[in-house]
Amino acid sequence: MAQVVPISCALCPRLVAYREEVGRVRRRAYRDQEYWSKPVPGFGDPAARLLIVGLAPGAHGANRTGRIFTGDRSGDFLYRALYEAGFANQPTSVSRDDGLQLCDAYITSPVRCVPPDNKPTLEEIRTCLPYFEREMTLLKRVKLVVTLGGIALESYLSILQGRGQIKARTSFRFGHGAKFATHESGPLILASYHPSQQNTSTGRLTASMLADIFHEARRLVERD
Ligand code: SF4
Repeated sequence: MAQVVPISCALCPRLVAYREEVGRVRRRAYRDQEYWSKPVPGFGDPAARLLIVGLAPGAHGANRTGRIFTGDRSGDFLYRALYEAGFANQPTSVSRDDGLQLCDAYITSPVRCVPPDNKPTLEEIRTCLPYFEREMTLLKRVKLVVTLGGIALESYLSILQGRGQIKARTSFRFGHGAKFATHESGPLILASYHPSQQNTSTGRLTASMLADIFHEARRLVERD
């Protein structure tokens, strides 16, 4: 699928400054590597029935490697679960040229540039959201949307609301494993905690909880 986000996008000055600063300062373990430090596009199968929505690139993961959820612990969690449910050809994701392919799944995020403290502002989310919406339009086979975290859910719902496909967002209360139908013939939503370091290191989200989400996703995309 053609990339919908220009890697030169500089609409959010705070995020442009931060993505470049992270790449300049670098983490000690990666100091010999050239960081990507640009917007990170979506990744996966253009004919996907499963759409996965994250939050934003990780500072030393996707902002370093240039591929979403690649090169950090969040990605380790996510891709292992996708592999176990048959949505990925390998359980690891370390670099853009590691041979990883997604089958029947596509991963994107509402914010394409790394935010300080993993916290984009509302204005930054609003500014970046049209790229996500364009991907939604191009992904024509999606039956299920797995939202990773509250911001992913809110962002997806705000696009549906802007299109007049739902009236309000108040009836969609985030909960891990919660499922929501939206508009007629629209994809089902399955909500999950985000596999952030904060969630995985505290045990709020375990590997088996995330595996369950994607086994359920497999069941839901295969049903008629
Ligand atoms: S977050 Fe999105 S809109 Fe903002 S600079 Fe990055 S790509 Fe552009």
